[in-house]
Amino acid sequence: MSPVPTIKINHMDIIEKLEILSNSAKYDASCASSKSYIGGKGLKSMSGVCHSWAGDGRCVSLLKILLTNMCEYDCKYCINRKSNNIKRAYFTEDEICYLTTEFYKRNYIEGLFLSSSVMKNPDYTMELMISAVKMLRNKYKFKGYIHLKIIPSADKKFIDEAIKYADRVSVNIELPDSNEFQDICPDKTRDGIIKPMLYARDKINERYEKKFYGGQSTQLIVGATPDSDYSILKLSDSLYKKINLKRVYYSAFINVNNDEKLPAISTPPLLREHRLYQADWLLRMYKFRFDEILDENENLNNAFDPKTQWALKNLDLFPFEINTASFEELIRTPGIGILGAKKIIRARRFSKLSIEDLKKLRISTKKLIYFVTFSGKYHGIKTDNPERIKELVMEYRQDGLFDTRLLDMTEKSANTGEL
Ligand code: SF4
Repeated sequence: MSPVPTIKINHMDIIEKLEILSNSAKYDASCASSKSYIGGKGLKSMSGVCHSWAGDGRCVSLLKILLTNMCEYDCKYCINRKSNNIKRAYFTEDEICYLTTEFYKRNYIEGLFLSSSVMKNPDYTMELMISAVKMLRNKYKFKGYIHLKIIPSADKKFIDEAIKYADRVSVNIELPDSNEFQDICPDKTRDGIIKPMLYARDKINERYEKKFYGGQSTQLIVGATPDSDYSILKLSDSLYKKINLKRVYYSAFINVNNDEKLPAISTPPLLREHRLYQADWLLRMYKFRFDEILDENENLNNAFDPKTQWALKNLDLFPFEINTASFEELIRTPGIGILGAKKIIRARRFSKLSIEDLKKLRISTKKLIYFVTFSGKYHGIKTDNPERIKELVMEYRQDGLFDTRLLDMTEKSANTGEL
């Protein structure tokens, strides 16, 4: 990086703003995590860092801030809505550049995640955001990763600029159900969200000519509306197929405002959020159809991961023979992932595999024995009663520990009101 241009920064002022605006940004889940913090010499304050996947597959740490939390809108679920009495602040473009480059130089971050509340109107806000990232690229010669939010209903010219300077852009779709949408987000429109997404899709395709750079993602709040997991997965599937989104991020609804239009829940549905991420993985990586995973209006099961839920509903398809099953059949088997399926296919070229061979390949057989045979031999239980198999599989839930941790987090969230 070239020398940082000299600018006058009021240090105390910027630290206070950083606390306010990184706190305000943490409810946006459009990156892989938002719960770690950084501090450092000269910048001792704590500020938000999230992790995201870059286009080349790297996991990058990003400074996650809002340009401002001074919002003209009044979305019912949002801590930053105009009717809330909270501390407000905004960063100048110089301050954003200063913070990003200082943290970058200290190796705390590899990039910037810049979002914003709606200051005056969408175009005014976007102009300020673009100006900040433009300055970061041109004046500060910043080569790190930038994820930039597009404000719903922003003019196309700002989307063009956003795609030019950022590695990833995103528009938050917010809620799965369009009927509830207007009540909960009175100042936004569905069109104002979808149109920028479609426009960004076309511009990204033009700019990157289908290379795996750039891209867009979105965030969807789970549990604020009565939508079933089926409707949520259906929406995600259509966003992946029609808008070429790289990721849909699911964010458990946190009841920070106790608004009468929203469910009066005391703990965010984190386990549901986790199950949706697992089901989303099946859509993207295992090529499941959304309507295979769930029936209309059905929800994901708390007790099982979605692949096991699907397998238990389709016991008539099993058992698969481990020595002849196709790659697609293997990855649909509970207990076998993509890596495991590849190992099995490679190993069975040399000899027929037994249950012991799978153990040697470091593939746990506790769950999969109910769904496969080894040269015709079945090691599960002989029963036509799916309930009995469910009980046995439940004893070997692979994500049991993680679920317990999630439940813990839910309890903590109840105390603090924060994730
Ligand atoms: S536009 Fe809505 S969601 Fe965004 S900051 Fe303002 S009130 Fe919150």
